[in-house]
Amino acid sequence: MFDTRMLSSDSSDIEYGAKLINDGEVVGMPTETVYGLAADATNENAVKKIFEAKGRPQDNPLIVHLSGVEMMDKYVCNVPELAYKIAECFCPGPITMVLPKRDIIPYITSAGLDTVGIRIPYHKTARELIDACGKPLAAPSANLSGSPSPTTAAHVMNDMKGRIPAIIDGGACAVGVESTVISFEGEGIRLLRPGYVSVEDLKAFGVPVYCDKGITEAVAANEKVLSPGMKYKHYSPKANVTIVTGELDKFTQYVSEHNGEDVYAMLYDSDAAFYPYKYLTYGNNAKEQAAQLFGVLRKADEIGAKQVYARCPSQDGVGLAVYNRLLRAAGFEVIRV
Ligand code: AMP
Ligand code: MG
Repeated sequence: MFDTRMLSSDSSDIEYGAKLINDGEVVGMPTETVYGLAADATNENAVKKIFEAKGRPQDNPLIVHLSGVEMMDKYVCNVPELAYKIAECFCPGPITMVLPKRDIIPYITSAGLDTVGIRIPYHKTARELIDACGKPLAAPSANLSGSPSPTTAAHVMNDMKGRIPAIIDGGACAVGVESTVISFEGEGIRLLRPGYVSVEDLKAFGVPVYCDKGITEAVAANEKVLSPGMKYKHYSPKANVTIVTGELDKFTQYVSEHNGEDVYAMLYDSDAAFYPYKYLTYGNNAKEQAAQLFGVLRKADEIGAKQVYARCPSQDGVGLAVYNRLLRAAGFEVIRV
């Protein structure tokens, strides 16, 4: 058991966090997407501690975080020209590219795969921490496996208190959903997980963009998926979540027929004035919904919600990421009214 310390993002605290990581420990790290649980990606024992702290299945690979594009060639090989073009456009930023790994990345980090996801976060504190360590940092989201991802340092403390020695507080995450994950297939790009960098952004490179089936459909436990994380029920609060599609009046009608003491709606902000029952709101457009989604799912548990009926988000731009996370939180339960 650790007495988990909350650190600031001052340089002396970043140095302290880096010392912990270089001693083989795991530290909570802010990024612009969600908070991560960071450890030295090249140290098998340290990476093992990430899986233990999260309760993460060992076949779910970790993303390796670098502080700049110039670090890439040390950890991955056979990088296609398109990957450098994408990096030039979106790195540092909320995109992860899956590429063939070099031997310096141990198989525990890549969950036995010959590829590894590489990301260069935009968040200044994350890059300062990577530089202070002088190491690539393996970092999954800093939640207990299965629960909503953390978008504030307090969320990380809630899940990781006693499990890790320290958390660096870098404020609320601006993006709020995990990075876009892509791989390269022939001349094209395969989208493995939607995020802030959208399908439309990727199509702008003038190559085919293939969307993995698991993004909007449930995959059977025995089905082969390219993105292992897509298999798992994920992002779920304790409350049961159901997505309800359709106009607000039909939505309201549906809830009125299924209402109860611990039932809450998850609405667009602009719906609230027209909705008569208990509710939480999660913004008015896809970007706001991305930033607020996980915090609102955590809030639902805090107020003791047993059932949440969520208004369906749009699937355009970062909306596809919001829809994808909400679908998993709902265990793919969608009601069309
Ligand atoms: P998280 O650490 O929670 O952000 O999840 C990272 C996700 O990125 C994993 O669950 C995978 O779906 C995906 N991912 C990471 N590395 C790879 C890889 N080498 N091949 C395919 N997908 C990957
Ligand atoms: Mg995660």
